[in-house]
Order: sequence, then C-alpha cells, then structure tokens
Amino acid sequence: MSKKKKMPSIFKMATNFAKDLGKYIKEGAPNVTHAQYTRRLEACTKCPNLELMSMRCTLCGCLVEHKAKWKTTNCPDKPSRWEALYKDAKTPEDDEARKAIKANKLLHDALDKGLWDPKKPETAVPLLKKMGYNTTIKEKTDDCDGCDKE
Ligand code: SF4
Repeated sequence: MSKKKKMPSIFKMATNFAKDLGKYIKEGAPNVTHAQYTRRLEACTKCPNLELMSMRCTLCGCLVEHKAKWKTTNCPDKPSRWEALYKDAKTPEDDEARKAIKANKLLHDALDKGLWDPKKPETAVPLLKKMGYNTTIKEKTDDCDGCDKE
C-alpha cells in the first residue's frame, strides 16, 4: 500500500487557492483548451507530487482537475511540469530584471533614510555595488549626467 503524501497546511492551501482565484478573475477567467487541459493532467498523473487518491498536488494542495482548467494557474514544481500558458505581469522576466528591481528598492530605501542624495551620484555607488553592479562615476559632460556602468 502506498504511503499517503503530506499536504501543505490548510492555511497554505487556502492562501494558494485565494491567489490563484484572484489572478483568474482579474484576467477575465480564461480557461485552457481541451488539449492543454489533457496535457496538464497527463503531467500531473505522472508526477511524484500528486496525491492520487484525492487528485491533489502536494506542493500547492490544489485539486489538479480544477487547477488545470484555469489558464492563469501554473504548476508549482521547479521546473514547471506544465507548458507555460500564462506569464504573470509582475514576474520579472529574468535575473537582470530581478536585480534591477532589488537595486531600485534599495535606492529608494536609502533615499528615505537619507543615505543617498540623488544630487550626488557618488553616494549611490556603494549601494549599487552591494547589489552586484560595478558602477563608477565619470566626470560630467553636457550630454551625460556623470553616471555610467562599467
Ligand atoms: S501541478 Fe505540477 S507539481 Fe502538482 S501534481 Fe501537477 S505536475 Fe505535479
């Protein structure tokens, strides 16, 4: 007899469901095609994360037969076992974009704390270096504000 797989907590399952539902409604409730639905369920039935008796995914706790219908849902495994049908607009495209978002937040936090003065670009250099940007300040010219990436 196979051992019952551990599911996420009720709270985690409810949170995941609420997020999925919110995204689905926000996008106008788009569904997958029949062929896409079949491919998703095929992937789930071959997946070691599926609790076969309840047809629930043990990573997110969702009922895969419902979850697979919504175009806006994604397989939570890494890498995903489903073909990509929907890209969350808030998901950064790649590592560079993620790095830029973090750097932007760091600079804004520094600005709020008075650690960065936008009128003095050199004060941003240690902050940007912390974020992995190798940045130097050049002399100002008429067509340049004095800041450049190496
Ligand atoms: S949603 Fe993904 S991780 Fe979950 S059972 Fe299906 S294929 Fe596996």
